Amino acid sequence: MVLKLTAVPAMASLLRAAAPGLFSWRGYCSRGLQGELSKGFVESLKAIVGSPHVSTAVAVREHHGQDESIHRCQPPDAVVWPQNVDQVSRLAALCYGQGVPIIPFGTGTGLEGGVCAVQGGVCINLTHMDRITELNTEDFSVVVEPGVTRKALNAHLRNSGLWFTVDPGADASICGMVATGASGTNSVRYGTIRDNVVNLEVVLPDGRLLHTAGQGRHFRKSAAGYNLTGLFVGSEGTLGLITSATLRLHPVPEATVAATCAFPSVQAAVDSTVQILQAAVPVARIEFLDDVTMDACNRHSKLSCAVAPTLFLEFHGSEQALAEQVQHTEAITQQNGASHFSWAKESEERNQLWAARHNAWYALLALSPGCKGYSTDVCVPISRLPEILVQTKEELKTSGLQGGIVGHVGDGNFHCILLVNPDDDEEHHRVRAFTKKLGRRALALHGTCTGEHGIGLGKRQLLQEEIGAVGMETMRQLKVMLDPRSLMNPGKVL
Ligand SMILES: Cc1cc2nc3c(=O)[nH]c(=O)nc-3n(C[C@H](O)[C@H](O)[C@H](O)COP(=O)(O)OP(=O)(O)OC[C@H]3O[C@@H](n4cnc5c(N)ncnc54)[C@H](O)[C@@H]3O)c2cc1C
Repeated sequence: MVLKLTAVPAMASLLRAAAPGLFSWRGYCSRGLQGELSKGFVESLKAIVGSPHVSTAVAVREHHGQDESIHRCQPPDAVVWPQNVDQVSRLAALCYGQGVPIIPFGTGTGLEGGVCAVQGGVCINLTHMDRITELNTEDFSVVVEPGVTRKALNAHLRNSGLWFTVDPGADASICGMVATGASGTNSVRYGTIRDNVVNLEVVLPDGRLLHTAGQGRHFRKSAAGYNLTGLFVGSEGTLGLITSATLRLHPVPEATVAATCAFPSVQAAVDSTVQILQAAVPVARIEFLDDVTMDACNRHSKLSCAVAPTLFLEFHGSEQALAEQVQHTEAITQQNGASHFSWAKESEERNQLWAARHNAWYALLALSPGCKGYSTDVCVPISRLPEILVQTKEELKTSGLQGGIVGHVGDGNFHCILLVNPDDDEEHHRVRAFTKKLGRRALALHGTCTGEHGIGLGKRQLLQEEIGAVGMETMRQLKVMLDPRSLMNPGKVL
């Protein structure tokens, strides 16, 4: 059955009130009463990308309607795999013209329900667009299509003397990382994705193509007009589809050394972090893992580290610079009672250490098979980190919730990774309450509710508290200007 609601506004508002998840104000000539897409519309999708690249199968739709979070999500009505930007543009124009929601999909590793199709619609999976289209070694820049993952990019760069530094724990798509404002363990030295994006190609909701810094440009700095590139970093698929990113690369350091050391308390570990940064040691990575997480990592990654609050560190530079950095850091950490120093100079040993850190999420999940994970993501000014981390650890212990703490502490950002039984509503409720309370504590310390995972579905209330009424209104106006029919990833962020 096919119905055009705009032609019967009174009936439309009745139906909207009865089933707000299925209907919005726009025309639904392409979707039936149950929200499913009409046959003709699916045929139009196939005409753009070819039949093998469109699926309405339940299993495929369900896979695309959820990410790695505990958000209970809804599947899209169809999934399409465009092969090039022209197809993305035509898909967007088709969906927009017909009033069908559009949900961009990278690798689905997001942690805030970003790919959930709250109003149904078409999921545009960008993984088939995975070419590295340009490498400018002399300019330290590279241009990638949206499906290139961070590991694939670094594998491609292996013999170039350059590397891409942003490394979230998962092997996420680069444009998914841009869309969520991602960062990782190297951000303390090399910046987040926000600092490493130079230009973006974006398909706007109506199909027009935007180059945020001008087509083909890859300068190191610019003062030309509004920062459109920055607008799309962290836009979570709500303003357009990112179809190409020009990224900044960094030279591979001459020498690298990594270390772990254990502390008598959370306070001692975090105090050391603040002191190392205050002493201007150019540490490349400084990550915190609490005792619960260390225990989980020992089991999962076959390590034999002390089960105690621990810092994972890495230093980059010349041999001489490294010696100085290491000496300075050792002095600071030892003053704070550090022990069990373990140094890793060979790349295999270092890789093993950082693989264990990146797998901390899975190590914690393995403690309670069948449970799903939820990660908090607050970030505070570095001077406030010791107080919030110590308090949070105490609260986690007494909350009755199971989980550990990991942190990109050099950035003032940390996560409580909480284990949740998917069938236990009461536990879900307690996790949400814990998350909200922690978010508000970070706001009270002049921090943010999300350092890197984004707002998605779960943090919309906290966003309002964080940026205030005028900030929200400005964001809404930007959204309306770029997406007047509210079809780009509806229900997220705002
Ligand atoms: C084990 C684990 C560890 C993690 N560690 C980190 C970490 O250290 N730091 C960190 O920042 N994150 C981390 N994450 C979260 C996740 O990896 C990031 O949020 C990542 O950036 C998501 O990328 P994705 O390609 O999987 O995006 P998806 O999950 O597919 O999508 C996320 C959001 O981006 C939108 N989107 C995706 N692609 C595009 C596009 N091309 N154009 C427009 N919108 C798009 C989607 O609509 C959605 O709203 C971790 C996740 C896991 C599972």
